[in-house]
Amino acid sequence: MPERLADHTTLRLGGPVDRFVTARTEEELVEAVSTADAAGEPCLVLGGGSNLVVADEGFRGTVVRIATSGLSADVGDDPSCGGAMVTVAAGESWDAFVATAVDRRWVGVEALAGIPGLMGATPIQNVGAYGQEVSQTIASVRVWDRTLRGIRTFANADCGFGYRHSRFKADPGRHVVLSVTFQLPQGDLGAPVTYAELARALGVEPGRRAPAADVREAVLGLRRAKGMVLDTGDHDTWSAGSFFTNPVVAAELVPEGAPTWPAEGGVKTSAAWLIEHSGFGKGYGDDGVGLSTKHTLALTNRGTGTTGDLLRLAREIRDGVEAAYGIRLVNEPVLVGCSL
Ligand SMILES: Cc1cc2nc3c(=O)[nH]c(=O)nc-3n(C[C@H](O)[C@H](O)[C@H](O)COP(=O)(O)OP(=O)(O)OC[C@H]3O[C@@H](n4cnc5c(N)ncnc54)[C@H](O)[C@@H]3O)c2cc1C
Repeated sequence: MPERLADHTTLRLGGPVDRFVTARTEEELVEAVSTADAAGEPCLVLGGGSNLVVADEGFRGTVVRIATSGLSADVGDDPSCGGAMVTVAAGESWDAFVATAVDRRWVGVEALAGIPGLMGATPIQNVGAYGQEVSQTIASVRVWDRTLRGIRTFANADCGFGYRHSRFKADPGRHVVLSVTFQLPQGDLGAPVTYAELARALGVEPGRRAPAADVREAVLGLRRAKGMVLDTGDHDTWSAGSFFTNPVVAAELVPEGAPTWPAEGGVKTSAAWLIEHSGFGKGYGDDGVGLSTKHTLALTNRGTGTTGDLLRLAREIRDGVEAAYGIRLVNEPVLVGCSL
């Protein structure tokens, strides 16, 4: 029986693959990708499958699942002023890394607790939530460059990080992330809490700090209430997270009452608000696929859905929002073998 991507994605969707390889070491990873490249075969690098929408027809080519491991830390002698340089293999769980960081008093990733998937994918879309983004703490990213056929290290400034964006996303498939190095201050207090909802949950003024362990717990609580922490028994979490990015538009295009945040090139507004106010409430959909009953921004598989169903729903929502507000939403997850 061929391996099916439905067994490797958080949406539980996606058809069969021709060849499925699990890479447990960096050498195996480079070897598997290079072999497929040399044969001119399509090759998909798979992490935790939490940001992927794969066609029902599956993937004609090789899927390389990353299962590398390892974390090394270079911690300054004087904890009062030194930071930690921490290098983590692409195959490590992101959420487990956040827990380790809080445990070892490394500051700056505590608000990113509960995000599924593996370390290697985090720089690709500059993963972010609750006022933090990995670009704020990443020092460098080590990759296998499939075009130059060599290992390269990009310093933070060369990663082209933006909102849910990076040079790796801009050049899809070219760079296989092998490891990520973070520079993290040490301490018990987390980074300043800039996100209003999180500040309220912690009972601090926006911009003030709170113990990192408390920030992590508060974020996990907020995320669970929105179905944004994976839970096999809860169909609201059978998703790829937020399906649409928050659009950045000219200030005069923002509908009255919609929340806004400052952003480069305009203002960022809430995709969830636009969806809800265009007539797509929580739970909108049918028995196959629907919006999460806890959060309008997550498109979910209710158990019997297909990728075809999910894309139909996504188009209906995108087009409905555009008709109502003239703003075209863009998908956040990576689409494989299919399009919106
Ligand atoms: C319930 C839920 C909540 C979520 N919440 C958030 C959130 O708050 N913020 C946020 O930013 N995202 C969120 N996401 C999206 C997702 O978890 C992140 O984008 C995550 O970083 C994806 O990691 P992954 O290992 O699952 O990647 P995959 O889904 O396996 O892959 C995603 C893309 O990255 C590529 N890729 C994966 N690993 C590598 C690698 N080592 N080298 C090169 N390319 C690679 C893949 O080829 C693919 O193109 C959420 C998802 C879910 C299901």
